[in-house]
Amino acid sequence: VSQFDTAQIVADDKRHFHHPFQLIDLMREEGEGALPFFKADGCYLWDTNGNKYFDAVGGMWCTNVGASREEIARVMYEETIKASYINPFVDMTHPSGVTLAKKLAELTPGDLNHTLFTVSGSTATDDAYRLAVAYHRCRGNFNKTQVLSRNKAFHGSTFLTQSFCGKANEKPEYFNFLSDMVHFVSAPNSYREGAGKTPEEFKTELLQEFEDKILEVGPDNIACHYAEPVYGGGGCFVPPVGYHKGIIDICHKYDILYISDEVVTAFGRLGHFFASEDRFGIVPDIITVAKGLTSGYIPMGACIFSDRIYDALASEEGRFTIVGSTYTAHPVAAAVALKNIEIIERENLLEHVREIGPYFQEQLNTLKDLDIVGDVRGSHFMQCVEFVKNKETKEIYPDEFDIGKRVSLHADALGLIVRPLINLNIMSPALTMTKEEVDFVVSALRKAIELTQ
Ligand code: PLP
Repeated sequence: VSQFDTAQIVADDKRHFHHPFQLIDLMREEGEGALPFFKADGCYLWDTNGNKYFDAVGGMWCTNVGASREEIARVMYEETIKASYINPFVDMTHPSGVTLAKKLAELTPGDLNHTLFTVSGSTATDDAYRLAVAYHRCRGNFNKTQVLSRNKAFHGSTFLTQSFCGKANEKPEYFNFLSDMVHFVSAPNSYREGAGKTPEEFKTELLQEFEDKILEVGPDNIACHYAEPVYGGGGCFVPPVGYHKGIIDICHKYDILYISDEVVTAFGRLGHFFASEDRFGIVPDIITVAKGLTSGYIPMGACIFSDRIYDALASEEGRFTIVGSTYTAHPVAAAVALKNIEIIERENLLEHVREIGPYFQEQLNTLKDLDIVGDVRGSHFMQCVEFVKNKETKEIYPDEFDIGKRVSLHADALGLIVRPLINLNIMSPALTMTKEEVDFVVSALRKAIELTQ
């Protein structure tokens, strides 16, 4: 017998708990409501009725080492009784923050040696913009304030960063207050925009579009370009080979900073600590992280930036670059991040993802024989299935049909959590997922799709 009154929790949730993105998710508002979970362990979740699920979403792309590890809980406890808070502003510091910043300098590529800690991915995106604008001002370029982003990109939900996102339905006009300052180019979507082209042709077309956009806006007006190495919530697009290298070269030709948004891709999801260099061969000017930095045990994000930016900021103009807040580099979060990185290294989780990732992809690809599966794409432990009404024409279901949600509800009943996003089901499991668990995920998803179509 469950110790929880599930019906009451659901009713109270509907009445009092306003969820992120709730107003976009109309089914949650009008439908049966949110499913309450009370326990998480490794890759598994338990709902308040006692049912067990495999969490193929990894929380919200974040439980990289798996949930509820005792050794991380112990670090939180020990750090808290030692120093529950230490002021991070310039006159004071603490060993866990310093050790983490130094470790990140070792793990990141090139001369990315400086970490500005934040409390989330959105605030890391936000601060990266401030650093970029300040960098240009310090070098006398006062007009370089505008931003290049990509259609369907997701970079955050603060008032500022919402404007950098490329999904129209998440960006109502009245909150898109920077709309004149943010310019969008195409997503590297090989399934749709790239259809009928070779990867090389598609890459050349995307690079040309990017350079044309810079010339149209005026290079002297552009501060930075944001890009996820592999798209997250936009739909797991993996760009054609050479795309990121081509884009960063164009950025540097026009003195535009390249900001790699590794909020999802860092800390193992693609089989490396950082995908920028190890997977795509680029050294960005700034890398933003969050999520896998602490595996979701406690909020923390970071903006890791280059010596070049650091040196430029050390000027009279740079004095006014006000960044950081009360919880910057919180000692408990920093200690958790260090333990999290130690676990990734000790358990060889990067190698594990590089070994199991291709198998996960191969098995998911077998779903392509189903009538409503238009595409399966992604890389390693970031994958998605795109549903279509008509495979030949790639016609999509209307948004209100909510095909992704329909499939995910069947998956729930089979003990599998996937993330519905309109016409997609997204998966980003903990890095510990085994081959047997891959087999479970793919067979449960197949059944869920068969029950839907
Ligand atoms: N950037 C990317 C690529 C993300 O996927 C997300 C969140 O999903 C963010 C930034 C924002 O991170 P947060 O939700 O921690 O603010």
